[in-house]
Amino acid sequence: MAFVNENYCNLKESFLFADIAHKVEAYSAAHPEKKIIRLGIGDVTLPLVPAVIDAMAKAVQEMGVKETFRGYGPEQGYTFLHDAIVKYYASFGVELESNEIFISDGAKSDCGNITDIFSNANTILIPDPVYPVYLDTNIMCGRKIVYMEGKPENNFLPMPDENVKADVIYLCSPNNPTGAAYTKEQLEAWVAYAMKNDAVILYDAAYEAYVADASIPRSIFVVEDAKKCAIELCSLSKTAGFTGTRCGYTVVPHALVRKTAGGKDMELNKMWLRRQTTKFNGVPYIIQRGAEAVFSEVGMAQCRENIAYYMENARLIKEGFEKIGVQCFGGVHSPYIWLKCPNGMSSWEFFDYLLDNLAIVGTPGAGFGTMGEGYFRLTGFGSRENTIEAVNRIVEGLK
Ligand code: PLP
Repeated sequence: MAFVNENYCNLKESFLFADIAHKVEAYSAAHPEKKIIRLGIGDVTLPLVPAVIDAMAKAVQEMGVKETFRGYGPEQGYTFLHDAIVKYYASFGVELESNEIFISDGAKSDCGNITDIFSNANTILIPDPVYPVYLDTNIMCGRKIVYMEGKPENNFLPMPDENVKADVIYLCSPNNPTGAAYTKEQLEAWVAYAMKNDAVILYDAAYEAYVADASIPRSIFVVEDAKKCAIELCSLSKTAGFTGTRCGYTVVPHALVRKTAGGKDMELNKMWLRRQTTKFNGVPYIIQRGAEAVFSEVGMAQCRENIAYYMENARLIKEGFEKIGVQCFGGVHSPYIWLKCPNGMSSWEFFDYLLDNLAIVGTPGAGFGTMGEGYFRLTGFGSRENTIEAVNRIVEGLK
């Protein structure tokens, strides 16, 4: 008899995006004349930049020639991409060794897969609200989970609590969905907590490229001792529009060593290498050449233009809501606007209100954790034209 993983029974059904699609479909059928504007999208909409396309096209040609064809590559990624990422980190003051970097098919996979190298006996600390993958992947392992509350009083940036003992801590900065980003001093406090408790921080930096202010860390490794207590998860999805192309990377420093329950010291870098070489066969050569081009001077400049476009959309949305007195967070170091639903509405009430009255679609905050109830997420990932039209509808309709 094959038994299945009973931890799956503890997962909540994820209805969020299905429910949204359902409601939008029903509205559209009832009001075919209305133009629906989607400001809830968590996906990019601008195409890959020319530098990336050129590099991938060249790699495609190489694959068609015997001398330059590539089969299986190194599971942890090609050296040319490691070298490009080492240089990128050096640009914000972090020194990495190339074999501390592991290329993957994106941060979502790594967020889930990294659970393989930790014991199920660990207590996991997860921010609320946050990207739901951390919670669900740990429920699948049957781990004890504790939450830390993100709320206006702490600017949606929960800080360590000495009364809470956690072994593995997820931090997401800039945060999805709130857009909040930790300062260096705040990350120092987290590193101090992790060092004191022999904990490990899993630092999700998927939105680091959106950080607008040089004083806000793009990497936790700008903090002293972070290499002894943190793993960093990164993605080219929002940095360079790789949501469909798939490429990310995870940094596991050599200095990160923790014990087994039996007291044996283990280097997490070696464990992750073993995990990846056993269960993963690497990201396609063509994609890695495209990723390398992201980090070139010209590629970076082109990606920054796209980021600036999304951030201008975010600014317009925030400005519009603030004009009519709605409290907004985020939109500065991330393309996400996190707003307090007006007139005490719940997340779903506000969703219905925006759809039914203004034909605008957003994402109910309750989908990101219980602390997200009463909040709503909008994004700058739409087109400028639609963003402006949506803001006009909001300012007129909600004033
Ligand atoms: N981490 C956060 C915080 C995200 O919001 C997302 C995607 O929305 C991811 C990770 C996943 O990124 P990827 O596309 O690289 O899997």
